[in-house]
Amino acid sequence: MKVLQTQLLIIGAGPAGYVCGIRAGQLGLSTVVVEQRKPGGTCLNVGCIPSKALIHAANEFHTVREFSHQGDGVSASGISVQEARIDLAKTMQWKDGIVGQLNAGVSGLLKKSGVQLMQGDARFEDGKTVVVTENGVETRIHADNIVIATGSEPVELSDLPFNDSVVSSTDALSFNEIPAQLAVVGGGYIGLELGTSFAKLGSKVTVVESEDRLLPQYDAELTAPVLDRLQLLGVSVLTHTQAIAFSESDHMLTVKESDQERKIPADKVLVTVGRRARLTGWGLTELSLTTKDGFVDIDEHCQTSMRGVFAIGDITGEPMLAHRAMAQGELVARHLAGQNVSWDKQCIPAVCFTDPEIVTAGLSPDQATEQQLAPKVTTFPFTANGRALSLQRDDGFVRVVSQQETNVVLGLQAVGAGVSELSAAFSLAIEMGALVDDIAATIHAHPTLSEGLQEACLKALGTALHN
Ligand code: FAD
Ligand code: NAD
Repeated sequence: MKVLQTQLLIIGAGPAGYVCGIRAGQLGLSTVVVEQRKPGGTCLNVGCIPSKALIHAANEFHTVREFSHQGDGVSASGISVQEARIDLAKTMQWKDGIVGQLNAGVSGLLKKSGVQLMQGDARFEDGKTVVVTENGVETRIHADNIVIATGSEPVELSDLPFNDSVVSSTDALSFNEIPAQLAVVGGGYIGLELGTSFAKLGSKVTVVESEDRLLPQYDAELTAPVLDRLQLLGVSVLTHTQAIAFSESDHMLTVKESDQERKIPADKVLVTVGRRARLTGWGLTELSLTTKDGFVDIDEHCQTSMRGVFAIGDITGEPMLAHRAMAQGELVARHLAGQNVSWDKQCIPAVCFTDPEIVTAGLSPDQATEQQLAPKVTTFPFTANGRALSLQRDDGFVRVVSQQETNVVLGLQAVGAGVSELSAAFSLAIEMGALVDDIAATIHAHPTLSEGLQEACLKALGTALHN
């Protein structure tokens, strides 16, 4: 067996692991990253990037299709189209091209930082030793410090095991044809992002959600415009409903709501009921790390219960977001390089790429109230924003949650077409401890959706201009 000695060994080259590797290499640590599949992890290969590519293609197709469906053949903006068509195989090829380009980018960046990327399965022998199996050849790696960045995997329902028809997001992102009837079980992030896309591509979509409303992680005011749009798109929504069985023979999904069973026709069933930590296959049992609710427990340096063993990204639990994973990866590299850093982020923004998009940073009105911060909540509607009107999308609003007494911005949220790009302004404001006065006094370019943020803050001060 080959033997290797390194200062830092990282298991997994997803957003958490590869960012940790790049920064560690840049800071002069001898670093090895082991990846069993492709660099970039879930996010780049079967998550964030391919899903956003599909959402984009679906939006374009839907717009063209709407033009071709106008009553008099001409849209309100004067555009007419004979017939909209899509070649899904070509769409998938285009999406795979983007993924491939980014795979190569990640490998290149690791190389540029002097990091050794090994393709293989990593398995702990003890807290300082990992064996990597690469094409049947084993290498024993001794490392001063080890970072676990093995990510997450889709939750499978025991009543609906994955097969050719019942699939996870990974398969849905590689469908070779658009299912005529698609049932989506789980109306959270993935279910709604992908469900909306397939509805726009022409599928008859039914969303089955066990809670009493979709996107239960967001408040009802924020999700209302998304529900309106789903209705416009012809998506059927069943809440407070459980999917209990799928019959391959007649392609029917049986669902149950308060003891009432019914059947939904479905060529494919997409199960998106959450993701769980990838805890098996790399020897967690050999290490006996402390876990909490099924995820690896960490401290403010992302150190696990074992000294010298760190964990970052989805394996450490919610929020399971790529940008949080990257921030943790960077933090651990800097900590191990001797810098005085610990987790001190004021907020982790979240964007749900539904139609319209939802963006949040900091505290929601309910969270601020629960924390007894006496919040003031102000919303500015996109119906009063020129840019939104000119984009033919005036649904949605910007909302600011501020502290009544001090004017400190506690939280910022928005729902609207294209508002994901407001996430930078939102998190910057919160990270810098802005007051509503600071945002209100900042010149925002016209005409942009971001003026909604300035107007919401002016409104919070009682000095709105356009509302
Ligand atoms: P992962 O990306 O899962 O990477 C872990 C890596 O470890 C994998 O490549 C795996 O092969 C490797 N590995 C595991 N075990 C071993 C082993 N024993 N040896 C070697 N290698 C191993 N987040 C966002 O912020 N924005 C989005 O828009 C977004 N969209 C998403 C869409 C979908 C459909 C999905 C599924 C997820 C999405 N996410 C999004 C979530 C995001 O993908 C994850 O939060 C992110 O990938 C977590 O990064 P990670 O590095 O912790 O884990
Ligand atoms: P999720 O937690 O967002 O949604 C799961 C949904 O399934 C919830 O609404 C839940 O109530 C419902 N559910 C649970 N069990 C059910 C059952 N038996 N029957 C019907 N419904 C059920 O999870 P997800 O959509 O699978 O996404 C996983 C993670 O991936 C998310 O937590 C998120 O962090 C990440 N993600 C992020 C983005 C983004 O940032 N834009 C996009 C996709 C995924």
